[in-house]
Amino acid sequence: MTRLEISDVTKRFDSPGGEVVAVNDLSLTVDDGEFLVLLGPSGCGKTTTLRMIGGLEEPSEGEITFDDIRVNDVKARNRDVAMVFQDFALYPHMTIEQNLGFGLEREDNDLSSAEITETVHDVAEMLGISDLLDKKPASLSGGQKQRVALGRAIVREPRLFLFDEPLANLDAQLRKSMRTEIVELQSEMGITSAYVTHNQEEAMTIADKIAILRDGELQQLGMPSEIFNEPTNLFVAQFVGSPDMNIFDAKMTDEGETYRVELADSSFTIPAELLPADVDTSEVTVGFRPQDLFLNASSARVQGHGGPVLESSVRVIEPLGTEAIVHAEAADGDITATITQFHEIVEGEAIEFTIAPEHVYIFERETERLIKGRLGSETSETGTTSEVEV
Ligand code: ADP
Ligand code: MG
Repeated sequence: MTRLEISDVTKRFDSPGGEVVAVNDLSLTVDDGEFLVLLGPSGCGKTTTLRMIGGLEEPSEGEITFDDIRVNDVKARNRDVAMVFQDFALYPHMTIEQNLGFGLEREDNDLSSAEITETVHDVAEMLGISDLLDKKPASLSGGQKQRVALGRAIVREPRLFLFDEPLANLDAQLRKSMRTEIVELQSEMGITSAYVTHNQEEAMTIADKIAILRDGELQQLGMPSEIFNEPTNLFVAQFVGSPDMNIFDAKMTDEGETYRVELADSSFTIPAELLPADVDTSEVTVGFRPQDLFLNASSARVQGHGGPVLESSVRVIEPLGTEAIVHAEAADGDITATITQFHEIVEGEAIEFTIAPEHVYIFERETERLIKGRLGSETSETGTTSEVEV
């Protein structure tokens, strides 16, 4: 049971090209039993942060505490954390059973060898690898090896689990099933966890809380739904969600009850109550999630809301079963939409997209900070709901 806190932590490396600030003044907390995901593009400082939590790297500044006790000077092997990496090295000459028990045997604990055997067998059962215990690593598949690596972390019942892109080497299908298993195991065991990935979909599906990093700096810390609906800035908005958010430069003017938003070729209004009271900027960037766009013709429910109408021409339809990703060209720019009524349209056709004003994102152009986010669910003026699940 451990609450992890990182306070004002900075990590600098000396490198031939000069000093690198890998992590810059990072502060965050992970509550007892919580699953934190560190998310961001390659080189943003995720691994360095994880290594500092694990004691493999020392912060240049700041403090790391486990349950309010400073661990900066505690050696990695005394922190009682278990790490699972992308490149999991199993001992090739040992059986799976020996690989699983090795950490326990070496550790300073009071376990008898019978108890170690029992723990190893319990964990193997939990992971569905009981039938592999007598085998050597070389005869295992990638997924089986990763399960063993996971098992090695679990048998120790550590204070913290630290995962660094543990599924990156697995194929897509296995990655999905393994990530569900990791979440289930973690919540069953209730062990506080930090998990590094650059894959936003993985982060959105497994995290209790996501920390988004960019160039070593924390952009936002929040639940997946908060990050999706209320991204602090354009970077976060574009990093999460798939397909990418559609963004357009626009001008916004105060018309009293409403704000008018002018794109290059069209304009629409947003009720003033959807915006903060102190908006004083006119140069903005607007964002539309592909999932929030509707075909105008078949969506009487959002017509008459004053939302944008984007005239466009269908370029490509990518069917995905019950929905399709539609790529279209509009005078304002290219549009990507996820549409369920895709059977009604053909490539080359002229169509109109629209979106409820509640779902439009608005950012200040210069600072890229969020002015207006997306309401997750709401009742529209006509009394019908226009809810789109994340
Ligand atoms: P991520 O895991 O998000 O891809 P890292 O934490 O590995 O990012 O790296 C963050 C930055 O710190 C990168 O610019 C990387 O080159 C640099 N860095 C990481 N480790 C070292 C090191 N040991 N020496 C010098 N620079 C490093
Ligand atoms: Mg990394």
